[in-house]
Amino acid sequence: MQDEPPAAPRQTDTARATLCVKCEHLCDPALERCDRCGGHLYILCSHCGHKNARTISRCEQCKHRLHKSAKDRVRAGGAGKFNLLYFGAAVLVILVATGLILWLADVPRPRLW
Ligand SMILES: [Zn+2]
Ligand SMILES: [Zn+2]
Repeated sequence: MQDEPPAAPRQTDTARATLCVKCEHLCDPALERCDRCGGHLYILCSHCGHKNARTISRCEQCKHRLHKSAKDRVRAGGAGKFNLLYFGAAVLVILVATGLILWLADVPRPRLW
């Protein structure tokens, strides 16, 4: 008996798909990058070079840690610094824009008179 239920293919696709760690989109395992956000789906083990899904924290082959904590700390620190810089720039832009609006609102008046 080789009867295949019609509802089976979807479940098989979900099981085969690789989950994107960035946007949680299920991607085709044949893809190197997520087709929605472009994030990398796989990470190469720095110890043995085995290609692992980014959803796992240790190498499937040698159990070496894939996500280095020191690197993550540097990246997190960099991101925090960038956010602070971005916030400062945003505040500066708002101040300049407000000043410009006030200046522009003030300047045309004498011209109309
Ligand atoms: Zn994604
Ligand atoms: Zn490895």
